[in-house]
Amino acid sequence: MIVVKIGGSIQKEKQDYDLILEKIRKYQEKEDRVIVIVSAIKNATNELIEASTNHERSTEIVSNLIDRHFALLSDLAEGKAFEEGFQQLSKIADDLAKAAWSVKVLEETTPKIRDYIVSFGERMASILMASFLKSNGLDASAVTEPPLVTDSSYGEANVLLEETKDNVTKILERVRSKLVILPGFIGRTTEGKFTTVGRGGSDYSATVIAKALGVKTVRLITEVPGIMTGDPRKFRNAKTIPRLSLEEAVELSQLGAKRLHPRTFDPLFGTDIKVVVEGLYEEGYTEVVGLCTAQDVLKGIATVDNLKLVDIESSRMVGRIGSAAAILSEAQKANVNIVAMSQPASETSIQLVVNSNDAGKLVDRLGELRSLVTDVEVRDVGAVSVVGCGLQRPEVSSKVIASASGFNPLSISRGMKRVSLTFIAEKEVSDRLAQELHEVVVKWTS
Ligand code: ASP
Ligand code: MG
Repeated sequence: MIVVKIGGSIQKEKQDYDLILEKIRKYQEKEDRVIVIVSAIKNATNELIEASTNHERSTEIVSNLIDRHFALLSDLAEGKAFEEGFQQLSKIADDLAKAAWSVKVLEETTPKIRDYIVSFGERMASILMASFLKSNGLDASAVTEPPLVTDSSYGEANVLLEETKDNVTKILERVRSKLVILPGFIGRTTEGKFTTVGRGGSDYSATVIAKALGVKTVRLITEVPGIMTGDPRKFRNAKTIPRLSLEEAVELSQLGAKRLHPRTFDPLFGTDIKVVVEGLYEEGYTEVVGLCTAQDVLKGIATVDNLKLVDIESSRMVGRIGSAAAILSEAQKANVNIVAMSQPASETSIQLVVNSNDAGKLVDRLGELRSLVTDVEVRDVGAVSVVGCGLQRPEVSSKVIASASGFNPLSISRGMKRVSLTFIAEKEVSDRLAQELHEVVVKWTS
């Protein structure tokens, strides 16, 4: 048995599904059963969120989205498969329309209602996928109930692993098809309320379900051919990384061009489950399995642009307990996310790196701390991160730091398990620094 996750950006039109069919046929040759986890079709989740918050337009948005699903169904399936899909879709579309109507009438949305409305994206996608596969002669079934059991933290629900295991096992006993299509991203509380696990959560659903079922391979099918050494729009010679350790994958999936849900790899620590991130349109894949090994050196690079460094200086902060807390609490009050931060041992300054459009808000609030802060300077910077298990070793990290030193970085920090190094540099040099470090990485990619 394997778990295959189909991303939302590759569920747009018939051509995409034809390519998906080819892949699924190939996996079926080697597997008794294939569990397919689907995201909502392209843009559906955004539209459903909009429908749940924009009370005036909720019914209009929902009815357009439902129409799109019916139109896609008629492109994807015919005969009995179409009829069955049509019936299933009509039933669920009716529930969605009712929910949109109540949002419109009551002019109110709670996180619970939002999750309920959003859950229809994945449930409708499951029906489309199963109808299409059936129409092509495969033994497929759509499941529209959420496989995950979660707590009731709507919008960012936490998975209850044991309960999920029981639930998925029951679903697979009941649905006997060789291909079982399950909705990703959504869950249900033990009281039966719909939840979601956070944006991009289908990847996470796939790894949780694999762990719950003891499945050894998870394939995440996406637009891009695996995880790359750097954003190909920026780095001319960027290439697919053949293998990543879990620690590297966690760091790179947060920093890189291909963002995955932050918890995607959590269920895999302590297991030998392999995740293959592979492209639908282009050949190429990245395998993620196990912890750092001696063969893992440097893997990839990620950059964050449009940042500002807010340099806060004052001799009054020295040795004063609570000064850093006071500064950070102003950032919190201003609703500003801290991208990176540093402080020298002299304690005479604190540097906060924030998104450019947050800097003004933060500086205004720091004005409240006149008795503590004497000087605030702001400058444009970029962040360049290098990822690889080799950075745990002095011979590799010293080489990377030496290559960066010519660009006079303003600060250097290390990520989880010391498998990433982030340099903050002046905006004028950060692009060149990134290119230089990408060359170092490419030489070492294994
Ligand atoms: N459909 C959800 C989202 O757009 C989950 C996912 O795509 O993984 O966030
Ligand atoms: Mg998605």
